[in-house]
Amino acid sequence: MITDRLARPLRNLRLSVTDRCNLRCEYCMPEDDYVWLPREDVLHFEETSALVDIFLSLGVDKVRLTGGEPLLRRDVPALVRMLAAKPGLADLALTTNGVLLEDQVDALKAAGLGRITVSLDTLRRDRFTALTRFDQLPAVHAGIAAARRVYGTLKIDSVVIRGVNDDELVALVEYGRAVNGEVRFIEYMDVGGANRWAPSRVVSKSEMLAVLTAAFGPIAAITEPGSSAPAERYALRDGTTFGIIASTTEPFCALCDRSRLTADGVWYLCLYASHGLDLRGPLRRGVPVDELKAMIADRWRGRDDRGAEERLALGDRRAFVPVQDLLKRDPHLEMHTRGG
Ligand code: SAM
Repeated sequence: MITDRLARPLRNLRLSVTDRCNLRCEYCMPEDDYVWLPREDVLHFEETSALVDIFLSLGVDKVRLTGGEPLLRRDVPALVRMLAAKPGLADLALTTNGVLLEDQVDALKAAGLGRITVSLDTLRRDRFTALTRFDQLPAVHAGIAAARRVYGTLKIDSVVIRGVNDDELVALVEYGRAVNGEVRFIEYMDVGGANRWAPSRVVSKSEMLAVLTAAFGPIAAITEPGSSAPAERYALRDGTTFGIIASTTEPFCALCDRSRLTADGVWYLCLYASHGLDLRGPLRRGVPVDELKAMIADRWRGRDDRGAEERLALGDRRAFVPVQDLLKRDPHLEMHTRGG
């Protein structure tokens, strides 16, 4: 196992399979128009699989497929099949907005996908349409029902934004309980530059806990020693569990073992990093596997990123990349390109 300069292991890889999305969430992709990754740059599944082999040989044992919207990529089950067959992979998961899930969940399960997280921020149809610009809440519900049928359980990720959906915390926990999905509330993050972030729109973990305690009574923290998972988990008196990812007010950089590979093969060591390591170029030039492995290992050993903690230390915080033109020149700076 290799570790970085802060003794964090290389374990967790998030694979973005496309930068495209079929929703336009206000906090993630609010613009009409984006500069997309050139199609010829997007890794073929065989290329992704070859890179994953190298990561597995260096200690990665968890892979999550994300995007953009991963289910927009043609034949994701084929990629899942390739990855699920790899011996060192202990956990293969997918994060989706759920819109296309109903039709694909059986094939994903048959291909070997281990678990599913669906992102859902509101239960109100009008609000969903306003937030995402598409009237797709019924499709997401159908996707969640299908995931429950096939997997029994799932996770539901909700970004909480003041004045947008912060009045739905209780309803979302109840919804999670009803569909056997564990809800994880995510603090609104200042990632990318087009996400209309402002400090006043962040609802902190402590505020969320106060609201939920007022509604449900005492809430017990669940201790999970040794876990590098970003969510802190809690249990209500009736045993219902939920999580909070306090990535903005209480960053978990000290334990972060995540890195991200974009759909075009650029490897980022931190969600907030402004530069990544291009792996597509060397892979396509036929650089031998051992050299690629050494490049990746060296880069990880030099890692000292603590992006979210550095953002927290800034007094006057605003959107991460304020210049729209810059984002248009380099789509890699956006959350939808590097995967949430
Ligand atoms: N399309 C898929 C989905 O909706 O889950 C996968 C990609 S999406 C970028 C991954 C996650 O990032 C989603 O749960 C989304 O809500 C979250 N996300 C995007 N922008 C965010 C922000 N500014 N703060 C916190 N979470 C964000």
